[in-house]
Amino acid sequence: MTQEPQAPSQSIEHLQQVLERLARPIEFASRNKGKSLPSIKNLGPFISNQVIQALGEMVYPPQVEAELLALRELFVDEAGLPLETRQHRLVMARDILTRLNTEFPKPMGLSHSETGTLAQHKPKSGIPLDEETRLTQERVEGMALGNPEDFPHSSEGRRAPKGGRARVGDAAGSGSGDMKPWELSIRYAKGVGPKRAALFEKVNVKTIEDAVWYLPWRYEDRSAILPLHALGPGTKATVSGTIHRSTLRRTRRRRMTILTVLIRDDSATLEAVFFNQPYLEKILTMGTRVILSGPVSAGPGGSPVLQMKSPQYEVVGQDEDLLLHGGRIVSIYHETRGLTSRHLRWILHSLLDEYLPALEEIIPDAIRTKHQLPLLSEAVRQVHFPSQGTNIEALNNWKTSAHRRLAFEESFLLQLALAIRQQLNKGEVPGISFQEATPLITRLRGQLPFHLTQAQEQVIEEIRQDMASPRPMNRLIQGDVGSGKTVVALHAMVTACGSGYQTAFMAPTEILAEQHFLTLRTLLEAIGIQAVVVKGGTSSRERTKALERIKSGEVQIVIGTHALIEEDVQFAKLGLVVVDEQHKFGVLQRATLRSKGLHPDVLVMTATPIPRTLAMTVYGDLDVSVIRELPPGRKPIRTRVFRRSERGRAYQVLRDYVQKGGQAYVVYPLVEESEKVDLEAAIQAAERLQTEEFPSMRVGLLHGRMKSEEKSQAMASFKKGEIQILVATTVIEVGLDVPNATVMLIEHADRFGLAQLHQLRGRVGRGAQQSLCLLVSPSGRGRTGSPFGSGTEGGSTGPGQTPLPLTLATGSIPSSGSGPVGIPQSAQQRLQAMVNCSDGFKIAEEDLRIRGPGEFLGVRQWGVPEFRVVDLARDATLLEQARQEAFAVVARDPHLSLPEHHALKAAMLRRWQTKFDLGSVG
Ligand code: ADP
Ligand code: MG
Repeated sequence: MTQEPQAPSQSIEHLQQVLERLARPIEFASRNKGKSLPSIKNLGPFISNQVIQALGEMVYPPQVEAELLALRELFVDEAGLPLETRQHRLVMARDILTRLNTEFPKPMGLSHSETGTLAQHKPKSGIPLDEETRLTQERVEGMALGNPEDFPHSSEGRRAPKGGRARVGDAAGSGSGDMKPWELSIRYAKGVGPKRAALFEKVNVKTIEDAVWYLPWRYEDRSAILPLHALGPGTKATVSGTIHRSTLRRTRRRRMTILTVLIRDDSATLEAVFFNQPYLEKILTMGTRVILSGPVSAGPGGSPVLQMKSPQYEVVGQDEDLLLHGGRIVSIYHETRGLTSRHLRWILHSLLDEYLPALEEIIPDAIRTKHQLPLLSEAVRQVHFPSQGTNIEALNNWKTSAHRRLAFEESFLLQLALAIRQQLNKGEVPGISFQEATPLITRLRGQLPFHLTQAQEQVIEEIRQDMASPRPMNRLIQGDVGSGKTVVALHAMVTACGSGYQTAFMAPTEILAEQHFLTLRTLLEAIGIQAVVVKGGTSSRERTKALERIKSGEVQIVIGTHALIEEDVQFAKLGLVVVDEQHKFGVLQRATLRSKGLHPDVLVMTATPIPRTLAMTVYGDLDVSVIRELPPGRKPIRTRVFRRSERGRAYQVLRDYVQKGGQAYVVYPLVEESEKVDLEAAIQAAERLQTEEFPSMRVGLLHGRMKSEEKSQAMASFKKGEIQILVATTVIEVGLDVPNATVMLIEHADRFGLAQLHQLRGRVGRGAQQSLCLLVSPSGRGRTGSPFGSGTEGGSTGPGQTPLPLTLATGSIPSSGSGPVGIPQSAQQRLQAMVNCSDGFKIAEEDLRIRGPGEFLGVRQWGVPEFRVVDLARDATLLEQARQEAFAVVARDPHLSLPEHHALKAAMLRRWQTKFDLGSVG
């Protein structure tokens, strides 16, 4: 272990001179609380040049260089900044000077200050800065030197400093208020230079606040460091000792490297063995003190020296290192190259020491006590440096009260932002007060071939009330596939017509838009409403004509893709926007609508059953209606998993269904990364299936790359029953409604997410017939043994030779392992979940649990907020509580303008202002 380079007295003397030179103008500018600042010319260039010059003259410890660079940064771009900010920066600059002065007093005073020397605070294995490059680069940027003698001498610069804590408070208190210590760049933290700041940036840590929220992903209990003589084979232990010998061997046969390290403490020796990590030779050198953690085994060949194979290791320096990295529960962080858990522990330790006292408590006391949440400062300390005796399991599951507090805070801030967003939306009048009792609705009902379900009626009523009210509607309709959302939306559209307004009805694909047009047109025409579909193929005559009719107001309902509002479709009187399959679009850009001067009512629909917690965060500012019931007579879809080698049997089942008069989809995955290959696979499959497997049936093809016309034609033929088997890519995933399609075969089912499989599967089972979904996956069935899952037998027999005992209805999904969320589950388990469950909500929840919100059906498109602590699956209850509290707070104090909400508001805006477009609140 290399000894920390102590700052030699020569460099300290030099530093003192530099500090003095810097202090003069800064002190001068700070007189009268910085009021004289505007009269001082060239302060920025002067400081900047002084720093560059100093760095060119002398190599300082990285910590010092970081401070100096940080100081420089306060001035480089300050010319154009508001006076208040500049004054605040002056305060921070003085702070840096004071810090440097404390830690590097004149050589005689070098002994020990209370805060400890730099050497103690720095990570021991610091990353060498790339001196040359950086300095050269900055020299190039260098500017003409100002004249230091322009500034009168001030003796204040080296005034004896006070404790670090008070300083932070000062800086926070006396500043303009727009730059709290929390918002400082991470490079201002001790032990973080520009280079490490860049590493931090990789893990999304930019400010000191971010660093504090960069939680350990797991913990290790190293509180009991055993003396070596107390070890016994077959146990797991943490030990500490000094490396006595270290030898690297390479085995000839398998080109493996084995590093054997002998460590000693006062009581005995132990051999640690590391495989294939030859670089460790340079780290685990003789004389280095280490903490090792791992399984203890007997020495090879009866050697009395015990062994530890592939232990966790940490290099430790002085005794106090031991306190941070061992002899306690230590935190393990996600590491990036050059930023190890060790570094992070060091950095966070001094960072918390310095900044924690300045940290404001933002959750109102009443709420905090009601939910038994610890203080923020306490929670922060506990998650990074848990006290002795904290339950290690709770820590590792992020279930300690400290973690809960942080998760609560995160949800609380988000929900505050959503509550405020909702307020803003409501204020966004002028909205339209539609005349809800239009005779058109009565006529529409007369045309419907079925009775609406109770659930549909209820949602229609909720929409009716929204539309009658003058505030713009912002409603989400959630309903499982096939629950009949279209007809609900149709009621809204017809209501809009009744008041003389137009509706834009948007679907994610042209295919779906066209389907909607075809189904709705007849109904609408029967009651005298004109509908039109707008499709690609820009300059076609038809399109131009359609656009004209929209502009003139001749058509009332316009169906198309998102291009409807994004492009130049001009409406005569747009009153309602309906977005079908919202999750495919991403959050509707209300800003786009606003910018066009439109304030229509908005109704979004999603067939993707979003788990409640996710809905609460993604659509938190919308009102939500749920269609909880399927139209009567639907039979649950039977689902079966086939191995690839059993595909022939799957085809047989499919053939039987089709021969009985049904129709089939055969779905191929299509993902962007391998789009070309995937597409070819689908095209070839269509040919092969036609010629080899189903020569007597008509096989069609549908994929997103086909021309618009070809697509419509394929769809139309399938709808009419001319095509019996439709080979398709995932373009058919959403919305399509061909009730006679009763069987779906999904190839490479393992490549789909659960929610997506559920969507696909929803293309069948839309009529009264028993439908079937066949999942083909390469590696076959799960480990559950039964090829048919554990579902209850439906009693009836499928058309094949084999009875198909498939799950009916809504059995729960067997939870597969309760490890930390996000651990990948086998594809087989996922497919099994499909077999066992047909309830979209349960599937969605399982999917969320398995894959995490980031992956869940590409939810990134929905704009799910990135959480640092909250886990949507684990923290459901907490999210709910936080939501209630947040909405209550906003109800009482809509602009968070009460003094006790100031800090809260600031924190909320810091986090969410941009994302939720809360500009007008700030
Ligand atoms: P989704 O909610 O998936 O968009 P759709 O609106 O496409 O579902 O409806 C699915 C099918 O159910 C359509 O064929 C539709 O005509 C039919 N449907 C809708 N409501 C009812 C109902 N109350 N009774 C019977 N069939 C219905
Ligand atoms: Mg639909």
